[in-house]
Amino acid sequence: MVPGIRSLLADLEGELSQLEASVTPTWSGLVEPLERISDLLGRTWGVVGHLKAVKDSEELRKAVDEVQPEKVKLGLRLAQSEPVYKAFKALREGPAWSTLTEAQRRVVEGELRDATLSGVGLTGEAKERFNAIQQELSTIATKFSNNILDATKAFLRVETDPKHVLGLPPSALAQAAQTAAAKGHAGATAEAGPWAFTLDIPSYQAVLMHAAHRPLREELYRAYLSRASSGEGDNTPLIERTLALKRERAQLLGFANAAAVSFASKMATLERAEGLLEELRAASYAAAVRDLEDIKAFAAAAGEAAELRHWDVSFWAERLREEQYGLKEEELRPYFPMPLVLEGVFALANRLFGITVECADGEAPVWHADVRFFKIKNACGAPLSYFFLDPYSRPEEKRGGAWMDEVVGRSTLLAPPGSTVRLPVAHMVCNGTPPVGTQPSLMTFREVETLLHEFGHALQHMLTTVDEGLVAGIRGVEWDAVELPSQFMENWAYHKPTLLGMSRHVETGETLPDELFQKLVAAKNYRAATVMLRQIHFASVDLELHARYIPGGADSVFDVDRRMAARTSVMAPLPEDRFLCGFSHIFAGGYSAGYFSYKWAEVLSADAYAAFEDAGLDDPSVVAATGRRFRDTVLSLGGGRAPADVFRDFRGREPSTEALLRHSGLLAVK
Ligand code: ZN
Repeated sequence: MVPGIRSLLADLEGELSQLEASVTPTWSGLVEPLERISDLLGRTWGVVGHLKAVKDSEELRKAVDEVQPEKVKLGLRLAQSEPVYKAFKALREGPAWSTLTEAQRRVVEGELRDATLSGVGLTGEAKERFNAIQQELSTIATKFSNNILDATKAFLRVETDPKHVLGLPPSALAQAAQTAAAKGHAGATAEAGPWAFTLDIPSYQAVLMHAAHRPLREELYRAYLSRASSGEGDNTPLIERTLALKRERAQLLGFANAAAVSFASKMATLERAEGLLEELRAASYAAAVRDLEDIKAFAAAAGEAAELRHWDVSFWAERLREEQYGLKEEELRPYFPMPLVLEGVFALANRLFGITVECADGEAPVWHADVRFFKIKNACGAPLSYFFLDPYSRPEEKRGGAWMDEVVGRSTLLAPPGSTVRLPVAHMVCNGTPPVGTQPSLMTFREVETLLHEFGHALQHMLTTVDEGLVAGIRGVEWDAVELPSQFMENWAYHKPTLLGMSRHVETGETLPDELFQKLVAAKNYRAATVMLRQIHFASVDLELHARYIPGGADSVFDVDRRMAARTSVMAPLPEDRFLCGFSHIFAGGYSAGYFSYKWAEVLSADAYAAFEDAGLDDPSVVAATGRRFRDTVLSLGGGRAPADVFRDFRGREPSTEALLRHSGLLAVK
């Protein structure tokens, strides 16, 4: 593989040089050659990435390690090419602009925006300073994560008294014994100990949720909240430095602050994001207070005499959940055989969007015998797109989780000979339990939701009608709008006829009993307000720090955190709470001034589903008409039109928080 990729990279490198030498500020002299180059690079590297994810091997890993730096280099050269940037600028400002379609303008504006944000437009000292900031930020981000890792590793709590591990489920005890054995306690067993607990999420969560021994919970809780907040590995100065650098970088680029840079490539604006968070906060607060009162009353009735502290809440919340719902994921599995669930998902797509999904096994080569190939057809029978489905887990060569990916995107420029357009092809990858004997793969309810989620992403890729490859399907969609179609599809898992239509007990043939369905709905909303407030707190602190906080001033970042908590936390955080030192999403990941996107996407998707509720879920023709409108807007227009406009096209108005609050049980019934 290495020689093949190398020669391809060399060819592309040559094509890019040629483009840079001969570029003209016109569609055919700039965008078309650029689409060809980036498509070939993306498509080829996509194959490598895909195989790495589903058919990993020592050999492949070595090959990827070898050529990856060269691929990254070419990618950077492509993104930071000055001649290309200048040509885009000239195209934007020249006479050809008025002849471009909306999708073509989105291509140009997106390229200009990305180039601007990566500093291509800067010169001289400003450019040098920008590059130095980029370097330092990436060093700090790595140090920030390493400090968290080190702090997590440094903590170990060994228990030898069986009374101190009461309540923990067998799987957690087995894990704790294994950790103990690895840390020098030879012969540790799940039954007799010793047991070692760490701050890794599975261990930490198991203790907080299940350990009956209060001091153990307290010790882990306190240790977790003070990770990387003192001594050598203290992240506090790194947070200050990061915020100062991002502010300076923003100003170099001509923005007021780091939040403004983030919003330059989002559907939301700072005002709208904050307004939405405040609406959700106001609607959740009282309910979160009630959530806590319920837990306090439940704990008291169960004989807990002490006042509940931070390390007690998850424990009692779990006990209350068990008593109220007692819903075990495993019990639902027999109701959801994968072939039936797939049929149900395809039937739903037919009802909503008028498309037919048809088996096309054998029409394309596959990388494993279990992989399926499907064709999507229009109502008139014309093929629209194709997708691979790799359904089952193969731990030895396939990574966990579920995802959707592109094989190729829709494009008229890259139409094969004799066709007017290249049709999109998608990957859908799941990690279901493989069939055993004659029994099909059985799915948990969570896996059913995930399948719907990924199918939603895939549909936006596959049903696009945009001709311009660079903004067709999921490409060029602002990332706070990307989860709209996927989360929209998840809603149908809670639509009773849809879910019942894809459930049949593998032995008895019975559909999912009503009682279990009601439990699923109730369990979804258990402590919904509390969960919502927590997300709102993270999102609000993130925006405040990147929009208004001035590093080095009188306030510390922890003061900001506490000030926001006064409005978003029912139980005031401990004075020594240093959660921010472990908030890698915004200080070491890509979520700075973007954490709100989680809630933003939920609002959009719930509101989109509400269009079907408003129109009438019981009338198939109304559902079909609304579904058609969803297909013609959200699924068709992809990155070819601004997402706020696309949403308005579908909904006829701005997004509203009403549906999300109602679906979460947080709105008084009218
Ligand atoms: Zn997603």
